[in-house]
Amino acid sequence: MFRAILVEKTDAGQATRLADLDESSLPAGDVLLAVQRSTINYKDALALTGKAPVIRKFPMVPGIDGAGEVLESTHASFRPGDRVLVNGFGVGESHWGCLAGRARLDGGWILPIPSAFTATQAMAIGTAGYTAMLCVMALERHGVTPEKGEVLVTGAAGGVGSVAIALLSKLGFRVVASTGRAAEAPYLTGLGAAEVIDRAILSTPGKPLQKERWAGVVDSVGSQTLASACATTRYGGTVAACGLAGGMDFPASVAPFILRGVTLAGVDSVMAPMALRREAWQRLARDLDPARLSAMTREIGLADAIPAAADLLAGKVRGRIVVDTTR
Ligand code: NDP
Repeated sequence: MFRAILVEKTDAGQATRLADLDESSLPAGDVLLAVQRSTINYKDALALTGKAPVIRKFPMVPGIDGAGEVLESTHASFRPGDRVLVNGFGVGESHWGCLAGRARLDGGWILPIPSAFTATQAMAIGTAGYTAMLCVMALERHGVTPEKGEVLVTGAAGGVGSVAIALLSKLGFRVVASTGRAAEAPYLTGLGAAEVIDRAILSTPGKPLQKERWAGVVDSVGSQTLASACATTRYGGTVAACGLAGGMDFPASVAPFILRGVTLAGVDSVMAPMALRREAWQRLARDLDPARLSAMTREIGLADAIPAAADLLAGKVRGRIVVDTTR
């Protein structure tokens, strides 16, 4: 038996509770994982609360991220005792996920935990941090370097934003953090932001082309914020778009793209190919300061994950939450 969070379909929509489950109820897969740590990303919060239809199949064990030890494996790449992690591939959406003591997974979705990280650190990074790294790599691929100018990070006090700030500042960029939480300015400068701006500046509609400022942008907010970020990006700059915390729409014009050669680089973590994931995790091991990772992380137990999901969607969570699935 193991403990898990279980989301069940009800007449009213869905209900989320802690449950004791039997290993025999786990879905098919060639690797059985003793999950030690998981986390709560924005998507997990949507799944746990039912605020958006993230869950494709009921009942579902949510948790798009997991880290732990292999217990059983018939997959050629993994043996019992291996330390591994999983992100995305529909885990916690269409395949039972990792907010649980056990998960049975497809070995093709799994990566070894980089030796630099404990299971706790791997989940402090989680999908949010690995996506922040994918965004930084997208900026680099398009030639954004510290000499080209400053970089904007939106949704700064959230998970993706916090890790992006820590990474970009370590890489030598002047980072400007956009947040709705002015009280978090000391936290954001502690992570490496050189300047903190009010997110209302970007969420207010403006002209299609505005004063050029950013060489690059990491945007986890979408909607008007993404449109404003594009309108204020310098000639030849790049905007990495990964999120929709402010909305799914994109009320923009083509002007920044056709008159300033701005690149809008889309970033997806869920189906990212294994080679890109490996590179991202190696880069995280090299470029993320462990002290800053620990400064942005809080650890909770499995039962606390249910209220924490509602807090995250209410904008009350700072940085990252690790879930200890063994308690
Ligand atoms: P968090 O909730 O931790 O962070 C989101 C942040 O966005 C908040 O902390 C807040 O920052 C800001 N925000 C929230 N609501 C609004 C709003 N209405 N208007 C403007 N800003 C707002 O979430 P994550 O960091 O885990 O994820 C961020 C986004 O990235 C989500 O949309 C998520 O779905 C997406 N994502 C996408 C991935 C992909 O594969 N493409 C992978 C991972 C995440 P502040 O308080 O500082 O203003």
